[in-house]
Amino acid sequence: MNNYKLATPLQKDYIDLFKQIAEKELAPRVAELDVKGEFPMDVFNKMCDAGLYGLNIPEAYGGLGVDLKTQVMLHEELGRVDAGFSFAFFINADNADIVIRFAKDEEQKKYIAKKILQDRALCSVCITEPNAGSDAAGMTTTAVRDGDEYVLNGTKSFISGAPLADIFLVLAKTDKDKGAKGISLFLVEKSDGVQIGKEEEKMGIRLSSTSEVILQDVRIPASRLVGDEGKGFVYIMQYLERVRFTTMACGLGAAQNALDLAVKYAKERVQFGKPIIKNQALGFKLADIHIKIAAARSMLLYAAAMADEGIPMEDISPSTKVFVSETTVWAVNEALQIFGGYGYMREYPMEKLYRDARIFPIFEGTNEIQKLVVSGILEKNTN
Ligand SMILES: Cc1cc2nc3c(=O)[nH]c(=O)nc-3n(C[C@H](O)[C@H](O)[C@H](O)COP(=O)(O)OP(=O)(O)OC[C@H]3O[C@@H](n4cnc5c(N)ncnc54)[C@H](O)[C@@H]3O)c2cc1C
Repeated sequence: MNNYKLATPLQKDYIDLFKQIAEKELAPRVAELDVKGEFPMDVFNKMCDAGLYGLNIPEAYGGLGVDLKTQVMLHEELGRVDAGFSFAFFINADNADIVIRFAKDEEQKKYIAKKILQDRALCSVCITEPNAGSDAAGMTTTAVRDGDEYVLNGTKSFISGAPLADIFLVLAKTDKDKGAKGISLFLVEKSDGVQIGKEEEKMGIRLSSTSEVILQDVRIPASRLVGDEGKGFVYIMQYLERVRFTTMACGLGAAQNALDLAVKYAKERVQFGKPIIKNQALGFKLADIHIKIAAARSMLLYAAAMADEGIPMEDISPSTKVFVSETTVWAVNEALQIFGGYGYMREYPMEKLYRDARIFPIFEGTNEIQKLVVSGILEKNTN
């Protein structure tokens, strides 16, 4: 079922193209790639060959400048085949967009756009550290100016895409005494001497690779500072406000897939002499899943439309992140229940979908932190 009834002909074309490649090249191998914990570079390259990589890069920098609403649709559609692949595929150009948005140097913007569009570079964002997760401003990675260079030292943890990345956008302290205002953003290349730690063995989204990033006396030209010194934290917070919509859309795709599979199963599975869907309790459960997914999708599109219009999203971004990710986990869990014991077995797809869904309330700012932000805004804005 195409869930995007309002999609324009162009959006439908993109959706169809993604679907065509994903269903042919990815769907048959998802279970095997999940066991191996592997990002399929060949599928990535087929997507690139079809011109589907870096769609969000603005036209002025050689891309198509696809708006956030369309990106949400595409992330969900690809997420229906595999949430981990959808996240791992799109996040690179989503990350590169930080440079295009916030760099002051036109050459830097052109450079990152070229790296994505022509060289098919993979790009990770490095915020989290072993002792600075939710409290990201408590990071200890430093960038010390030395003549025309910065020298970076520190360890970043849980970095998506790091094992294969060419470019790392690294947050580091340039002034230890200024808290969040002493944090700056740097464009670091793998070839600058970045070391990659061991790949994490994750519960879900296993087609997306994750590892530590170690910076040990990594020297980069001073020109690789992105934007202004001391503004890196603000840039990343503004990036997260937007990227949460597309990332959560990947999870919603998994939830929609779980619902589609559960409906099919409920029509086929016979107990007490009739298909289990004929029990109203079960039919209502399916209806509830459908209703909440539709609500989450509407909220995502509304939020993305606000972002496209440049409307401030300080409360809608964290609210949407929480609602969509909670709906995702809830929906997959309910759909798994419909499979009974078979839902618990690796041989059936629900077990993987459940594992994949579980990340969405955790990363890109945990749901608790999002609620902290929303409650803070309510307190501030209410007399
Ligand atoms: C698969 C995966 C991919 C990731 N990819 C990236 C990436 O690409 N780049 C990157 O920089 N990071 C990445 N992360 C890191 C992720 O963003 C962090 O794990 C997340 O921000 C939480 O930090 P933490 O794990 O240190 O948990 P902690 O901050 O230690 O939190 C632990 C628990 O305490 C709660 N908590 C903490 N403080 C408060 C508070 N004040 N009030 C209420 N509750 C609180 C949290 O909500 C959570 O439930 C990734 C993580 C995972 C698992």
